[in-house]
Amino acid sequence: MKVRRAYLYRLYPDRGQSNKLDWTLNRCRELYNAALEERREAYRMCGISVGYYDQKRQLPAIKEVRPEYKQIGSQVLQDVTARLDKAFQAFFKRVRQGVDGKKIGYPRFKGRYRYNSFTLSQTGWKLDKRLYVAGIGHDAAWGQFLAILQVKAEEAGLVYVAVNPGGTSQHCSGCGAKSPKTLADRWHTCTACGLSLQRDHNAALNILNRAGLAPCIDGMQESHRL
Ligand SMILES: [Zn+2]
Repeated sequence: MKVRRAYLYRLYPDRGQSNKLDWTLNRCRELYNAALEERREAYRMCGISVGYYDQKRQLPAIKEVRPEYKQIGSQVLQDVTARLDKAFQAFFKRVRQGVDGKKIGYPRFKGRYRYNSFTLSQTGWKLDKRLYVAGIGHDAAWGQFLAILQVKAEEAGLVYVAVNPGGTSQHCSGCGAKSPKTLADRWHTCTACGLSLQRDHNAALNILNRAGLAPCIDGMQESHRL
């Protein structure tokens, strides 16, 4: 059996990252609502059923007319259309089965606080390219986010592993030697063992090591030694 896992990635609790997360969630929510409207109107006006693959195929065209969507990973955007599809499948099921005496609710538009997560890809390497969990801060919102992440991960059949990300960028993932760097240093070069790789990639490997998961990861072989 292949076990899929969700990872908690390193956090950079600064305002810029926090804004980026909000921005991403808002773009996802906007896409969700637009996709819902398209399905609803196509059916209402023309009797046409628009499905998941129809909408997924439109994503490249959407990026052309709304270039800001190019900043968001394709998997994240595909997941938005997949979530909407899930809402519709549940709706169709309720229609088929009937709900005792209750009105069958049509999928609803998401308000400001009703779209509060996006789905992470399953390998650490992809994660550090696409995940914007960074910047929630160590406050109530952060605790709430972790709770959401855990629920979402478990819903998706993922295993949720929380690790302490402290200092993960400051040590070598290859040999554990201390490797001090400022936020401006984007590359990790270890003077002890020669490991050389992108800073976030190194931090991701350290997180995976802490979670005891590093050997399971595909796509993590891109690091190289000098
Ligand atoms: Zn090293």
